[in-house]
Amino acid sequence: MVLKIGVIGTGAIGRDHIWRIASNLSGGQITAVTDVNREAAEAAAQSFGLNASVYADDHSLLAEGDVDAVLVTSWGPAHEGSVLAAIEAGKYVFCEKPLATTAEGCRRIVDAEIRHGKRLVQVGFMRRYDSGYVQLKQAIDERLIGEPLMIRCAHRNPESSPTYTTDMAITDTLIHEIDVLRWLIADDYKSVQVSYPRKTRHALSHMRDPQVVMIETQGGVLITAEIFVNCRYGYDIQCEVIGEDGIVKLPEPSSISFRKEATYGTRILMDWKDRFIEAYDREIQDFIDSVGRGMLQGPTAWDGYVAAVTADACVKAQESGEREEIVFDTKPALYEERTLSQA
Ligand code: NAP
Repeated sequence: MVLKIGVIGTGAIGRDHIWRIASNLSGGQITAVTDVNREAAEAAAQSFGLNASVYADDHSLLAEGDVDAVLVTSWGPAHEGSVLAAIEAGKYVFCEKPLATTAEGCRRIVDAEIRHGKRLVQVGFMRRYDSGYVQLKQAIDERLIGEPLMIRCAHRNPESSPTYTTDMAITDTLIHEIDVLRWLIADDYKSVQVSYPRKTRHALSHMRDPQVVMIETQGGVLITAEIFVNCRYGYDIQCEVIGEDGIVKLPEPSSISFRKEATYGTRILMDWKDRFIEAYDREIQDFIDSVGRGMLQGPTAWDGYVAAVTADACVKAQESGEREEIVFDTKPALYEERTLSQA
């Protein structure tokens, strides 16, 4: 069976996902698109020989489009409305991060899904599909290093855009660590504190860069996450988990090494899209396959809610300089681990 997919938002990542479904992945077909920019939607509808139908907005796409599922890839503030409309229409929905721009908005989506009685939403936290993080998780689950005690990680970008602000280091950048680290060690967060070292001369005047976020988990693991979005030298994601019996580290992306002019070196990627291109493929393929089986297994609306609550506390800690508590609602039964055999 081919899954008929509508795309709500044909900006950069929307077009990327259309390309991967049309060219790289199996089992999915783009049948409908919409975007605030009608011309962009029309161009996307005709890309890759698709001939998809173009709709005025998300509501008309959901009501009239020939779709089994939708991808929400519009800009962040529009996500909540589109996801709620998809749940209301009983359609499966893959939503790029953020699920909603506020924790309350994420909670409204969780509540709508609970009322529907079945998981329909997968959130685009693609790092869970990165082979390096998957290997890291396997090693931790197999207790290769005993109990995890500390995590040291870094999220470095070559340079930030002129519109980037200090809080976006949390909401746009650290958000990926916020999701993947709690998945990695199957633990939740308890408190956070943010410190700023001396500011790089490469940062714009209105922002602080770099910054160090210290998060304590409920299980007592201490996470130190460096965010440095004007590091100049490359796009560099580091993660090291220190356990009672050893250390596991995220592998470097594979690359040739070279010897030249008395130097032994390896190239470092500059673009996040190149670093996680396979993870994006895997997450969307998993969405298509899981919808086909009638049971989603990727990041949930609850994960989107937890990320939003954690990000809010991190932003508060940025501003206060104090240790801030991270407090979640009780996890609803719908989001307890389920295996495919329980579908
Ligand atoms: P984008 O290129 O700006 O496209 C998003 C869409 O939203 C476009 O249709 C754009 O219309 C529209 N839009 C942008 N600003 C708007 C505004 N102020 N008012 C109304 N519409 C607006 O963004 P993108 O890079 O594709 O990102 C889309 C979503 O995916 C974001 O939530 C982003 O955080 C997420 N994302 C996730 C990852 C990941 O690693 N998982 C990576 C990239 C993006 P115009 O074309 O007219 O501007």
